[in-house]
Amino acid sequence: MTLPTVTTIAETRSAVAAVRGAGRSVALVPTMGALHDGHLALVARAREAADAVVTSVFVNPLQFGPAEDFDRYPRTLEADTAALERAGVDLLFAPSVADMYPEGRTRITVAAGPVGDLLEGRVRPGHFDGMLTVVAKLLHIVGPDVVLFGQKDAQQVFLVRRMVADLNVPVRVEVVPTVREPDGLARSSRNRYLSAEDRRRALALPSALAAAAAATDAGPERMLAAARAELEGREGVEPDYLVAVDPATFRPVDDRYRGPALVLVAARVGGTRLIDNELVSLG
Ligand code: AMP
Repeated sequence: MTLPTVTTIAETRSAVAAVRGAGRSVALVPTMGALHDGHLALVARAREAADAVVTSVFVNPLQFGPAEDFDRYPRTLEADTAALERAGVDLLFAPSVADMYPEGRTRITVAAGPVGDLLEGRVRPGHFDGMLTVVAKLLHIVGPDVVLFGQKDAQQVFLVRRMVADLNVPVRVEVVPTVREPDGLARSSRNRYLSAEDRRRALALPSALAAAAAATDAGPERMLAAARAELEGREGVEPDYLVAVDPATFRPVDDRYRGPALVLVAARVGGTRLIDNELVSLG
């Protein structure tokens, strides 16, 4: 069966109503397309979590800054459709910008709050407001029982959970572990920007996380120093941040902290910004 694809909000609502009318539960997997195995892991988990899976493919202009890669972000809808069909998705929602924002930018937006200004938000002002706004719209359009996100975007996961809790959104949030290439690089739609040389250099990110995970006994500062040694001074790699945060608050931990910590790294490799993270236990 070919994958039903809808582009308008009205079509999406009526397709989902038909699924619900048959007594079936619904999972939503929001994506920006250029799909890879990371996205497909979300779909696979969604199929276990609900009876029917809706995937959205939408490159959301609201979450890109003026100097960012919105225009050149990879758009591969034909290949994405084929991959989603093979993965057993029930409905593809692929709206245009005009479908989602018929009157231009929404005047009412979701404000990410203080954590939205840290880390990714510091480098990408307004990114998380734009992301949460589109996620809120997608949740209202589809009304899923469960929505799935990847741990790869840890700050996004934190903020979506906050929004769902703070605004009483009736949906369950599920998080899927980061899918990696065999050599450890986290899968990302942006990896296709990397030259062969930059692709090798990008391994500095997972190496830094591995060094952190191997040094948790030394305490936060020495753990981060071990990780930094893998990142700094590498040709073609410009580190942006490398921090350990408390997963409950997303605030950097101090050196006395013991317990679970998320080590988050961002770096620019040959002009492409890459992020990664790993949950460690500071002992
Ligand atoms: P994007 O298309 O980049 O907006 O990503 C859509 C969803 O896929 C988000 O929830 C991401 O966190 C998730 N995702 C992206 N890359 C990976 C990965 N390597 N492993 C698991 N999930 C991922």
